[in-house]
Amino acid sequence: MTLGTPDQTLPEFARSALLLDVDGTLIDIAPRPDLVVVPPGLLETLHVLRDALDGAPAVISGRPVEQVDLLLDRAPHAVAGEHGGAVRHAPDQPIERPGLPTPPPEWLVQAEALAAAHRGVLLEHKAHGFVVHYRAVPELGPMLRDAVLAILGGNPDFVVLAAHMAWEVRPRGTDKGVAVASLMQRPPLQGRVPLFIGDDVTDEDAIAKARDMGGAGLRVDLAFGTAGDVRAWLAEAAKHGAWPALPLPASA
Ligand SMILES: [Mg+2]
Repeated sequence: MTLGTPDQTLPEFARSALLLDVDGTLIDIAPRPDLVVVPPGLLETLHVLRDALDGAPAVISGRPVEQVDLLLDRAPHAVAGEHGGAVRHAPDQPIERPGLPTPPPEWLVQAEALAAAHRGVLLEHKAHGFVVHYRAVPELGPMLRDAVLAILGGNPDFVVLAAHMAWEVRPRGTDKGVAVASLMQRPPLQGRVPLFIGDDVTDEDAIAKARDMGGAGLRVDLAFGTAGDVRAWLAEAAKHGAWPALPLPASA
């Protein structure tokens, strides 16, 4: 079975811990990560779901926690950022960071040079890694992957991950599956059944973890269609206090 196919039972609404990816799941992908727009109604939907699920909705993103909080106005109760590299378990709690390695400064110098040498390539810095975006020049993807791997020089503490038109370097051992497990350990998510929704390769770990924990993991393209379809589905859930039927048929 392909990860993320929707042929699975959703947890009972009242017992669900709703875990959501952000880019491509709650908000539409933009040409650059800083150009995304939070659609009207989304924050209201998240607030209603937060009340209905006793604070259980949480967000798991590749973005830093601070960015997610700015984008979503602290609507989610808990936020895991940087693919689990940083976690804020409640709105009034500090951001916790497990002891993760940071990339050597010379890698960042080389990555800056790589981005500067190719028009349309963008470098994004993260606390424990960096991202090389090539949405404007998709034909450079394979070359950039080789260049990023060359910068890492086989260092075993870091991995290169495929994201939306981007190569992301981050510490080995952090992924969105780890983030799901971490978030589910604390109230108000603790004791609930995870329902995770994500759109990307990096979401597969969270999809698998949610299923391992007896819950459901759904891929946007297979279960819903687009981020707009996810938003409409969540708005229906907020209105009725129940999970609506999934928009796409059960067979993938
Ligand atoms: Mg995403």
